[in-house]
Amino acid sequence: MDTAQAIAAWVEENWQADLTLAEWWQRLADSGHAFPTWPTGLGGTNASPSQARQISAALTAAGVIGPPVGNGPSMGGPTVLAHGTPEQQQRFVGPLVRGQEAWAQLFSEPGAGSDLASLATSAVRDGDEFVINGQKVWNSFADMADWGMLLARTDVDVPKHRGITYMMIDMNQAGVEVRPLVQMNGIAEFCEVFFTDARVPVANVIGGIGEGWNVARTTLAFERAGAGSSRAANAISVGAGPKAGNLHTPVGELLQRAKRDANDPTLRTEMLLSSRTLFKMARELGCATDPVLRDRLMHYHINSQVYSWTGQRGRDNAKTGRPGPEVSTLKLKIALLAHESRDLSLSLLGAEGMLMGGETFEGARIQRAALASPVPSLGGGTNEIQRNIIGEQALGLPREPSDDNVIPFRELRRS
Ligand SMILES: Cc1cc2nc3c(=O)[nH]c(=O)nc-3n(C[C@H](O)[C@H](O)[C@H](O)COP(=O)(O)OP(=O)(O)OC[C@H]3O[C@@H](n4cnc5c(N)ncnc54)[C@H](O)[C@@H]3O)c2cc1C
Repeated sequence: MDTAQAIAAWVEENWQADLTLAEWWQRLADSGHAFPTWPTGLGGTNASPSQARQISAALTAAGVIGPPVGNGPSMGGPTVLAHGTPEQQQRFVGPLVRGQEAWAQLFSEPGAGSDLASLATSAVRDGDEFVINGQKVWNSFADMADWGMLLARTDVDVPKHRGITYMMIDMNQAGVEVRPLVQMNGIAEFCEVFFTDARVPVANVIGGIGEGWNVARTTLAFERAGAGSSRAANAISVGAGPKAGNLHTPVGELLQRAKRDANDPTLRTEMLLSSRTLFKMARELGCATDPVLRDRLMHYHINSQVYSWTGQRGRDNAKTGRPGPEVSTLKLKIALLAHESRDLSLSLLGAEGMLMGGETFEGARIQRAALASPVPSLGGGTNEIQRNIIGEQALGLPREPSDDNVIPFRELRRS
């Protein structure tokens, strides 16, 4: 029996429409099919990346709800598996693989985005705890999160990269205030987070006090690898954690809802449209014979194919562990594709692209995708920062001259 047949047989035996989402995710995690490359007992079976792809494809083909998605599974879990103690892995990754808890990434600050190591949120030791004060911003789904992957400054007397500590903060406490921010597409996907004497047990430090920069690089590498990967073929996903409100709903009901939503163009949150979608739109909008638009459509199609095959080759070559700087190439490429998709789709639509509303073509699907198109060129690090990483870490070009790796953080001039 090959992998596809084995998964189909397992689904046949385990998927029941009246299971709650929590029960289904429990089964998926216990079987090791949720996160196949992760350790046995923590959602996986130590499978190879190619085996994991086959399992994921088979779950998608079976039409079931896939494993939990979000910041935890895509970047937090791999980080705790790489740097956490066995106790921390059990505590944090265990509930994560069963979708019982959701995580947020609490890295960026008003004065520390691209220059993340300049972050100023402070963590001051008080016995067995740290006391946290400061502000984070642009934190995706922080309002849905139970845990935050927090970067805080524990030492101002050493150069900026060396005084940072990575810790798991309980979001459900009085000292943590989360305020959603509405983006230009009308969706409040990310938030600002304020800490006022919030508490974190020292036991929640991942990778050692003052070692946070190295741990954060692991999170960012997984974030960029995820941002640069194609998700088109993934199984149906549903929000994890208690705040999303799905855990006690029957999976059959959630599946129906997901299918209904997928057919409603006004509910789509796309950042780019596939070349196949654009071909179809060009025909429906009556501009498929325009020679200039045809030329641009083919250019986009070729670019998308090259991207898809390059990504596949990169993933096939990748060893398990922290992805290398080459993921910045994929992340940069998907950001550029999103911009090309925006410009081309708006050209197909013409003047109607200036209007919003359900009565416009496909419920304003093109306009909404256009408004979300800047996301991949900002989240997880901007295009300029990806180019710096490719230059310095992949091509071995000299670093930008700077003395901030010798000057203590407290003496740095900051904006
Ligand atoms: C949709 C979305 C989701 C996000 N989710 C999260 C999240 O969950 N958690 C989180 O912590 N953060 C998150 N972010 C924040 C994101 O990581 C930052 O926006 C990003 O790192 C850029 O930082 P900034 O916005 O402060 O811009 P700045 O750093 O102020 O950059 C402004 C401009 O200057 C350029 N620039 C800066 N430094 C250099 C340099 N050295 N060389 C060349 N150009 C440079 C930048 O490329 C950019 O064009 C998210 C952002 C978005 C858009």
